[in-house]
Amino acid sequence: MTGSDARRHILVVGASLAGTRTAQCLRASGYSGPITLVGAEADLPYDRPALSKGLLSSEWSDAAVEANRLITRPELDALDIVTRLGTAATGLDTTTRTVSLDDGSTVTYDVLVIATGAIARPSPWQPASGVFQLRTLGESRAIAERLSLREAVVVVGGGFIGTEIASAAVKLGCPVTVVDPVPEPMERLVGPEIASLLVDLHHRNGVETRFGVGVADIHGEAGSLTVVLDDGTQLEASTAVVGIGSLPSTDWLLGSGLTLDNGVLTDRHLRAIGSDDVYAIGDVARWPHSDRGMDVRAEHWTNASDQARFVANAITGGLAEGYDSSDYVWSDQYDWKVHSVGRRDPAGSSTVFGDLEAGERVAVVHADETGRACGAVTVNWVRALNQARRVIAAGGPTEEIVDKLRQWA
Ligand SMILES: Cc1cc2nc3c(=O)[nH]c(=O)nc-3n(C[C@H](O)[C@H](O)[C@H](O)COP(=O)(O)OP(=O)(O)OC[C@H]3O[C@@H](n4cnc5c(N)ncnc54)[C@H](O)[C@@H]3O)c2cc1C
Repeated sequence: MTGSDARRHILVVGASLAGTRTAQCLRASGYSGPITLVGAEADLPYDRPALSKGLLSSEWSDAAVEANRLITRPELDALDIVTRLGTAATGLDTTTRTVSLDDGSTVTYDVLVIATGAIARPSPWQPASGVFQLRTLGESRAIAERLSLREAVVVVGGGFIGTEIASAAVKLGCPVTVVDPVPEPMERLVGPEIASLLVDLHHRNGVETRFGVGVADIHGEAGSLTVVLDDGTQLEASTAVVGIGSLPSTDWLLGSGLTLDNGVLTDRHLRAIGSDDVYAIGDVARWPHSDRGMDVRAEHWTNASDQARFVANAITGGLAEGYDSSDYVWSDQYDWKVHSVGRRDPAGSSTVFGDLEAGERVAVVHADETGRACGAVTVNWVRALNQARRVIAAGGPTEEIVDKLRQWA
C-alpha cells in the first residue's frame, strides 16, 4: 500500500464476525489508516455459534456472555477502531461514497466492506406470544428463559440450529418435539448416510420427531400454544422455536445500484459487482465459487472469518488469486460433533468408514468423477476430518484419505 493509500478511510458495515475480523486483520496486516465499524446491534461484537450451544444449554451468566465476545472494548481502543454500535446503515450512494445511518448522519468512505450478515427467516406463524427465533444474543437469552421453565417445546425446523436448540432444551429437562417437512432434514447438509443417523440420535436422546410433515398454524400464547401440523395433528407446547433458515440483510442496499440476488453478488475477489471499492463478505455475500461453478452464499463461521482475512489482504496488498472456500462447517448435535468439509460430487463416489449402526465414529469421504478428494463428513472423528481437510486443500486423490482411515477405523 502506498503512502496516500494508507490514509484511506475503510468503513465496515456490520459489526459481527466478518466485520470485526476484517478490522482486526487490516491492523494485523499493517494498515494504520482510519477504520470505522458500524453495527446495528448495541452490544459489543459477539460470536453466534454459542447462542444455540453453550449459552443456551447452561445457566445464563454475564461471565459466559463476556467470554463469548469477539473483541473487547480495550482491544478495539488499542487497535484504534472507531465504532458506531447501535446504529444501522440505511442507504448507500456509491457515486459519492456515502453510507447513511439511522441516526440521520452520513459517513463517507474510500473502501466499504459490507458485512451485514443475515436475519432469521421470519416465522409465518405469529400468535400473541410464545414463538421465538434465534439469531441474536437477546433472542438466545429469551429462549434460555423459556427453557428454564422445563415445559414442552416444539422446534420447527430440523436444520443445524433447530436441532441444537432441541438438544439444549432436552438437556435442560423440557419435553421436546422437532417438526420438519423433510423426512431426513439434515440430508442436504451431511448426506443421506449421516442424516439418518441424526434422526435416530434425536430419539436416543428422548426427543420426538415429526419429520415429513409441515406446520399449518401455531395459535394460542406462551404457556399454552397449539402447533397444528399439515396432517391435522395438534401438538401442545409452552414454547415454539422456529428455525427455518435465514435471509441476507440487504434491505439497506436497495436502490444503491449493487446487484442484489439472495445476497450481494460479488466477483471472485469479493468486490461487489459494479463497484470496485465495495466488498461484501460473510453471510450476506454471494460469490462465484471456484469449485462449484456457481454463485454461492454460505452461512458458516469459517467462511465469514476466511473472507474477512481475504478482503483485508486484498485491501492492503492488492488483488491476487480469487477467494477459495474450504466449505468447512461444524455443528454440535447432542453429544456428537459433526464436521463437514468440501462437497459431494453427484457424478463422483462416496466411501463410508466406521460403524454406522453404532454411529459413534463415522466418516464419509467424497471423490469427484476423476477420483480427486472433494469432500468429507465426519462424526466424532477429528483426526479423520483433519486428514480430509489436508488432502482436499492439496487437491490430492481420495486414496490419501481412504488409506489412513482404513488404518484408523
Ligand atoms: C445460533 C447460531 C448458531 C450457529 N452455529 C454455527 C456453527 O456451529 N457452525 C458454523 O459454521 N456456523 C454457525 N453459525 C453461523 C455463523 O454464526 C455465521 O456464519 C456468522 O455469524 C456470519 O457472520 P457475519 O458477520 O457474516 O454475519 P452476522 O453474524 O449475521 O452479523 C451481521 C451483523 O451485521 C449487523 N447488521 C445487519 N444489518 C445492518 C445494517 N443495516 N447496518 C449495520 N449493521 C447491520 C447485524 O446486526 C449483525 O450484528 C451459527 C449461527 C447462528 C445464528
